Amino acid sequence: MGSFREAVDSFHGERGICGNDGDGNLRGMLSSLVLLGLSVTAPVSDVRNVVFLFTDGLRWQEVFRGADEELMKGAKPTDAHYKKYWRPTVEARRKALMPFVWSTIGTQGQLYGNRDRGSTSKVLNGLKFSYPGYSETLQGFVDPEIRSNDAVPNRNVTVFEWLNKQSSLRGKVAAFGNWAVVSAIFNKKRCGFYVQSGMEPITFSTSPAAQLFNRLQAKTDHPFPSDPADAFTYEASMMYLREMQPTLLGVLFGETDSYAHSGKYPAYLNAANRFDHWVSDYWTALQAMPKYRGKTTLIITTDHGRGDGGKWTSHGETVTNAEYTWMMVLGPDTPALGEMMNTGDVTNGQVATSIAKLLGFDYVKQQPKAAPALPRLLN
Ligand SMILES: [Zn+2]
Repeated sequence: MGSFREAVDSFHGERGICGNDGDGNLRGMLSSLVLLGLSVTAPVSDVRNVVFLFTDGLRWQEVFRGADEELMKGAKPTDAHYKKYWRPTVEARRKALMPFVWSTIGTQGQLYGNRDRGSTSKVLNGLKFSYPGYSETLQGFVDPEIRSNDAVPNRNVTVFEWLNKQSSLRGKVAAFGNWAVVSAIFNKKRCGFYVQSGMEPITFSTSPAAQLFNRLQAKTDHPFPSDPADAFTYEASMMYLREMQPTLLGVLFGETDSYAHSGKYPAYLNAANRFDHWVSDYWTALQAMPKYRGKTTLIITTDHGRGDGGKWTSHGETVTNAEYTWMMVLGPDTPALGEMMNTGDVTNGQVATSIAKLLGFDYVKQQPKAAPALPRLLN
């Protein structure tokens, strides 16, 4: 079967470049071989869509340990966040905080970044704040010229923009960001796909729901005025998913970072818990849609860590350990290895190449500065 395997591999490698959906032909070829009585074991990727989910500045400590023992010290048993998130063990605490992550991704997907178990995920930019972290993640490499959070249009091409240029994906890419600067990071003016961030209104639809969304977003007193509450980012992106059915969708949330900077630990935990619910909602919605069911991978991360213990509110160049992040993958072709242990360091730049690889494209070939894909991404 060597030659068949090569044929499948070369065919698979061309998916997307050929400009039409090669799956039908490939599946036809496979069923013909089955009809001829030949056994078919070639590894054909079932991944045809990627949803990239992200929440700004959520620490690996909360993801892997749940509510922080030290930061919960002042909490009383009658406090809402104590009742909701405090449990006697790390395993119970993290499951209370992120139930979907630990019930589903923990058993069916992969999680990188638990430093307690020898897994390290980090940004390499050295600055440990948002724009450098978003751009490193989305373009696959560190640009040392990116040194501020100003809304300067990104001079680099993100993997989203590059994929949208491929004929099979043109017009099938979109991104939503809670943080107003996300439109600049994707370079909205140049990139050629739908980007909506901060307080920007919905422009892909004029449905009554979209009009209601725009009125509500404009008239609501959001806790962090330049950005809407994360719930708006969620609703707009979910509306886009259902109406437009993109092949690659990015949704970048922000409240975890905003509440952390405010020093509000209970609100930060609630934001992390809401993010978990949204990841769960996406997964459920995707499995209910024929285009996505069994053919979609979630890849999930953040843009930086934060300080340890009492330094948890902060991050940046001078904050020790704020480079440590986390990553998760859940999809039909990704081995269910749960917590990755002793796999060597992974870096945020690997996300860009992994997104492309899941869609059948070799991003490093185009962008040699980009980090390689995650090591155990596909079977
Ligand atoms: Zn950030």
